[in-house]
Amino acid sequence: MFRAEVEDEDRRPIHFALTELDQLRQVRQQSRDAEVRVSAPVVESSSSFVHAVECRLTADAVRRIDPDRLGTTDEQLAHWALGQAIMANAQDLHVMFERSSGVFRISKDGVLQTLYSFSEQRWGSVVGILRDLSKISGPFFQAVSSRFSILYDGSPVDFRVEATPFRDFDRPQNMSLRLRRMDSRIRTLGDLQMEEGDLKQMRRLISRPDGMFLFTGPTCHGKSTTIYAALNELNRPEIKIMTAEDPIEQLIEGAHQAQVDNIKGLTFAALLRSFLRSAPNIILVGEIRDPETAEMAVGAAHTGHLVFSTLHVRSAAAVPTRLADLKIPAGMVADTLIAAQSQRLIRVLCPLCKIAAAVSPAEARMFEEVGIEPPKATYAPGSDRRCSRCQGRGYNGVTAVMELLEPDDEVFDLIRREAGMRAISVAAEKKGFKPLRVQALRRVAEGQTSMEEAKKKVIFTVG
Ligand SMILES: [Zn+2]
Repeated sequence: MFRAEVEDEDRRPIHFALTELDQLRQVRQQSRDAEVRVSAPVVESSSSFVHAVECRLTADAVRRIDPDRLGTTDEQLAHWALGQAIMANAQDLHVMFERSSGVFRISKDGVLQTLYSFSEQRWGSVVGILRDLSKISGPFFQAVSSRFSILYDGSPVDFRVEATPFRDFDRPQNMSLRLRRMDSRIRTLGDLQMEEGDLKQMRRLISRPDGMFLFTGPTCHGKSTTIYAALNELNRPEIKIMTAEDPIEQLIEGAHQAQVDNIKGLTFAALLRSFLRSAPNIILVGEIRDPETAEMAVGAAHTGHLVFSTLHVRSAAAVPTRLADLKIPAGMVADTLIAAQSQRLIRVLCPLCKIAAAVSPAEARMFEEVGIEPPKATYAPGSDRRCSRCQGRGYNGVTAVMELLEPDDEVFDLIRREAGMRAISVAAEKKGFKPLRVQALRRVAEGQTSMEEAKKKVIFTVG
């Protein structure tokens, strides 16, 4: 990582190296003729989330701050604004300079609302505090993006920060902070309303000691909820869970969770490399999107770790091809892949006002083709504004439709022979794999969702 060379008073070369404890032990054993000195204790660098929290606030402390009181410090004022934004459940907190004063504004449901104005003299200091929290140190003329997290009443809140310069460049930037509260509910797979059979299969698969379990599907379709549920279910004191995430969305009690930070060189691959030195049982790699991360994740799965990760593909059957694109040899994929999952969130029809419609012959064929008995009717959303449940939206809540591909010998064989997605899906379907389109049509047949919704969210989006 770091090397410099100088000579000692006898002109013998001295090599400096910043190294890991394990490597140091090896060097000591191997080199008899060199003197190895440790000049500083080597401590495992901790990038766990709790250490990454820049600030802790409580609702009580925020309520005790009176921004109008004379002795209120600039730091208290900044904390007060952050606390107000969190308490109001705002989407953004804006810190703007207008005419001759600073203004805190929050936006909520698209409406901007002024929280507090403060004097010009405080501007530099208040923004400075927010810049420090955001680790922004560059000159004022730069537009910078950053982020920080605070613990608010013990639960994490993430702020994504955009600093925009003024035209005259000599004043600290305006800041806009987007809030994201992390979900602190602890959910397990049992809370996800999965099919009984899928739930059993999923539980059996995640209890494997090693291998790779990949989750796929577009963003915002509940992938992380499923992954956290699986991790929560496996979480026990004797199990060491390490995660590299971007961003961390939920805290897992006792787990070592690290935030990816490309600026500091904490990439998925770098974090994964450091994890492997501390012998975790389960590793979550937030996303595999480059060959280096792919290789490390597969390597970890191959050497006794259970690895969870996500891949940006549309369906479970597309996973082997994507891994091949990421330069993973087919044999390695076949040796490590335990399962591939894909899911979509679909809206659930409001049961009070949904409207029955006859099934057309074309629709009947769609059901028959996937082995589902065509229902007598399908349902469309109602639009009655007087509906007490949905006020005319027609839908009430969402549910996940998921497919779970557990390769058997035949599929593993296809993977080794680099067969494509179609061949893999067809072979798996013969053994009972129910792809997304089938799962979605089943929900339509059950009257849980509309044909329109199934087509839009699932059937037309599955490659
Ligand atoms: Zn309704």
